[in-house]
Amino acid sequence: MVPTPSRQEALDALAGGVDVLVVGGGITGAGVALDAAARGYRVGLVERRDFASGTSSRSTRLVHGGIRYLPQGHVGLVRDALRERQLLFRLAPYLVRPLGFVVPLYRGARRPLGMPLPALLRPLAPLGVRLGLAAYDRFSRDPRLRHRVLSPQEVAQLVPDLRTESLQAAFLYWDGQTDDVRLTHAVLATARATGAWTVNYAEVVGFERSAGRIRAVGVVDRLTGRTLEVPVRWVVNAAGIWAERVANLAGEAPVRIRHSKGVHLVLRPEAVRASSAVVIPETDDGRLAFLVPWRGRLVLGTTDEPYEADLDEPPVTPEDACYLLDHANRYLRTGLRAEHVTAVYAGIRPLVSRPGVSTAVLSRDHVVVASESGLVTVTGGKLTTYRRMAQDTVDAVVRLEGVRRACRTETAVLAGTEGMEEAERQLSNSPLDPDQRQHLLATYGSAAMPVLGLVHQRPELAERLAPGLPHVAAEVVYACRWEYAQTVVDCLYLRTRLAVLDGAAADAAAPQVAQLMARELGWTPAEVARQLEQYRVHRSRDEGWRPGRREGVELQAATGSRT
Ligand SMILES: Cc1cc2nc3c(=O)[nH]c(=O)nc-3n(C[C@H](O)[C@H](O)[C@H](O)COP(=O)(O)OP(=O)(O)OC[C@H]3O[C@@H](n4cnc5c(N)ncnc54)[C@H](O)[C@@H]3O)c2cc1C
Repeated sequence: MVPTPSRQEALDALAGGVDVLVVGGGITGAGVALDAAARGYRVGLVERRDFASGTSSRSTRLVHGGIRYLPQGHVGLVRDALRERQLLFRLAPYLVRPLGFVVPLYRGARRPLGMPLPALLRPLAPLGVRLGLAAYDRFSRDPRLRHRVLSPQEVAQLVPDLRTESLQAAFLYWDGQTDDVRLTHAVLATARATGAWTVNYAEVVGFERSAGRIRAVGVVDRLTGRTLEVPVRWVVNAAGIWAERVANLAGEAPVRIRHSKGVHLVLRPEAVRASSAVVIPETDDGRLAFLVPWRGRLVLGTTDEPYEADLDEPPVTPEDACYLLDHANRYLRTGLRAEHVTAVYAGIRPLVSRPGVSTAVLSRDHVVVASESGLVTVTGGKLTTYRRMAQDTVDAVVRLEGVRRACRTETAVLAGTEGMEEAERQLSNSPLDPDQRQHLLATYGSAAMPVLGLVHQRPELAERLAPGLPHVAAEVVYACRWEYAQTVVDCLYLRTRLAVLDGAAADAAAPQVAQLMARELGWTPAEVARQLEQYRVHRSRDEGWRPGRREGVELQAATGSRT
C-alpha cells in the first residue's frame, strides 16, 4: 500500500501551487481529484470538516438507477446511473455489491412507486411495474440481476414480517449497496496514490484574481488557524449543498441550489425479519421509501422535504421519525416503535433549482458550469454517478484549457480492490473472529492488511470496540495513520460508523476511542475531555427526536485506557 503523506506534507505541497484545486471532500470532490490526477494534473483537494462529513455520509447508500425516476420520465438519468452501477461492481467489488429488493404492490394503491394512477387503471399497476423493471434490466445489461415475479410463499420467505393482506403482486429486483463514506475514502486513497494531495479541516475562505482570472485561493487550516495561499490554475467547486456559497466567495453565481432534507432511522435487526431490502411502495407525499439491511442493522428512509435551516447539522425531528415509523408500519406486521431505533441521521440533497417545482420531483441529475475565471462548479447528481460527474467536470477544465487529456477512470479499480485474495488469506490465518474478518474485508478490501498488521504489532488492538459488533480497536489507529482522522466524532461517525449504527454502543466505546486517538495524536488529558464533550454534544443532538431524551446522552468518564 502506498504510504499516506502526512497532513503537513500535503499542506506544504498545496502551498507550492496546483493545477487543479478541488473544494469539497465528499464523493464528488474525491471523484474529481482522482479523475484530474489520472489525466496528469497536479491536484489538491481541501475539505473544511472531515472527509465525507457532508451529504456523502448521509445517503441511503444505494448504488442504483433509481426505480422511482422511471415513472417521472427521467429515463436517461436511470440508464446512465445503471451504467455507473455496473462499472462500480467491477471497480470496487468489495464495496459495491448487488442487493435484492422486494417490491410489494397492494390492491387500491393510488400512487404505487410514485406513479399517480386513476381508479380505472389501478388493476394494471403490476403490469406497469413489470414494464419498468424490464426496462431497468435492459439498461443494466447484467443477466445475473434480472427481476422476477415472487410467489406469496417466496415473499413470506424473504420478508416474513411483510403484510400480505391485499397483496396484489410482488417482485424481486436488484440494485447495488455500498458504504458512502468508505466509497469516498476508497476514491480519495486512489486519488492520493495517483498523485493528488488531500487535506481535511482546510476551508476555502477567499479567492484572489488578476485580469479576471482566479490566481490563488485562500485556505484556512482549521486545526491551527493558519491561512495558506494556494496558487492555482483551475478551481473545481464540488462543495455540494454549500456550492452556491463557495461560488459567491469567488464573486460568481453559477447555480441556484435548493435544499431538501432526507432522514433515516437505523433499526435493531430483530425489529423486522427481512433477508432482502424492501420497497415501501407508497408514501403520503407520493414517493417511495426503503428498508435496507446494512451492516447487521436495518436502515429505514427517507423523507424528502424542502429545508432552509442549518446546513451543517440538519436535525432529525420527532415528526421525521414518526413519518418513517408510521409509513413502515402500514406495510409491516411487527409494529415498529422508537425503542427499535438505534441511531438516526439526516442529510440534505443538493437540488439544482427550478422555480415552482417540488423537491421530490426535481431531477437528481448533475450540472457543470465552467467560468472563464477558471472556476468550474459541479453540483446535483448522486453518489452512484460520482465518476461520471467527475468526468464531465474535468472534461470542462480540459475544454477551457484547450488541450486533449482523456478520462481514465472507467478502468481504474479503486484502492482496496487489488490484492483481495492475499488479504483474505492473511485474515483467515489471523487470530480474529470470523465476523471481524468478514467486516474488515468488506470495509477495507485489501487495505484490511495494514489494519491486520497493527493487530500483529499490538495484539490488544484486536479488541472489539463494542460488544456484538465486529469493529476492532486497530481501525481507530488505522484511521489516524492512513486516513487523517482528527476527532473522536470523525472516528465514531465517519470511520467506524458506530455512531450511525448504534448510538448507545458508540457512547460506550467513546472513552476507549479517545484514548486510542490520544496515543496516536499526542492529546493531553484536557484534549481528551474536550473531544469527548464534542462527541457528547453531537450524540445529544441526534437523540433530540426521542421522547424523553432531550436532556442528552451521558458518557462514562474517560479514565485510563483499556488498550
Ligand atoms: C437523504 C439522502 C439519501 C441519498 N441516497 C442516495 C443513494 O442511496 N444513492 C445515491 O446514489 N445518492 C444518494 N443521495 C445523494 C448523494 O448522497 C449525494 O448526491 C452526494 O453524497 C453528494 O456528494 P457531494 O460530494 O457533492 O457533496 P458533499 O458530500 O456534501 O460534499 C461537499 C463537501 O464540501 C465541503 N465544503 C463546503 N464548503 C467548503 C469550503 N469552503 N472549503 C472546503 N470544503 C468545503 C463540505 O464540508 C462537504 O464535505 C442521497 C442524498 C440524501 C440527502
